[in-house]
Amino acid sequence: MQYKGKTVLITGASRGIGKAIALAFGREGANVIVNYRKNQAEADGVVKQIESDGGHAIAIAADVSDFDACEGLVGEAEKAFGAIDILINNSGITRDQLFIRMKPEEFNDVIDVNLRGAFNMIKHVARGMLKRRDGRIITMASVVGLIGNAGQANYAASKAGVIGMTKSLAKEFGKKNVTVNAIAPGFIETDMTADLPESIRETYMSQIPLGRLGTAEDVAHAVLFLAHPNAGYISGQVIGVNGGMIG
Ligand code: NAP
Repeated sequence: MQYKGKTVLITGASRGIGKAIALAFGREGANVIVNYRKNQAEADGVVKQIESDGGHAIAIAADVSDFDACEGLVGEAEKAFGAIDILINNSGITRDQLFIRMKPEEFNDVIDVNLRGAFNMIKHVARGMLKRRDGRIITMASVVGLIGNAGQANYAASKAGVIGMTKSLAKEFGKKNVTVNAIAPGFIETDMTADLPESIRETYMSQIPLGRLGTAEDVAHAVLFLAHPNAGYISGQVIGVNGGMIG
């Protein structure tokens, strides 16, 4: 019950990594806002699971690429549980394509959700955190944002973008005791990676010293660590959760 009385908003928490983060915070006593874009049944399932473990949660739909929808999401969340103590920018999409074939829409869609989405959410949550001189902002980057990946120029640009934004905001918000960090997962087994061909999975596996793909729970553990009061002197960092794939 390490987060009892704390309110945490997680974008994209209906599935995958966001779901594991929501369940982990729920088990630790936090009030959990489960954001999703369209999978209401799955988001409701996450809420039910948290409640059946004795926790408090609500599901709220909003497209993070829409600035006004993010304002509505934060307003509704605050009405339900009060001020947001911890923001996890987790929503993300891929539109993989070799650069030469990549359409402008495929570039824009990924930037709009992954980078602009994080900007939109931080815009609506940060002011309150700065006023209260307390807050944690954690954004999901990717190993791809650090080293690049063929076929993912749009995704890599969005993830490198959130890393740059994280480091800048750590400098702006530090004096108000708001920490801003990013997590860069490696290859994690979720819907996002489910359709990758076996040959690509094997190539990734050969690059992972720990000899296994990551789980959503592996990432959730790192998020809870960064959100903890004991991590209060960690800001502007990118924590890799990649089985040793890159140092
Ligand atoms: P996932 O299983 O595909 O789930 C994506 C989540 O994002 C879903 O909850 C989805 O909601 C939500 N979402 C998508 N577009 C949205 C939008 N416009 N507004 C609000 N929510 C939206 O993805 P994942 O693998 O868990 O990835 C989570 C994060 O980790 C992403 O930022 C991803 O880039 C990052 N990451 C993943 C890996 C990996 O290997 N899986 C590696 C590195 C980084 P709906 O269910 O309603 O569609």
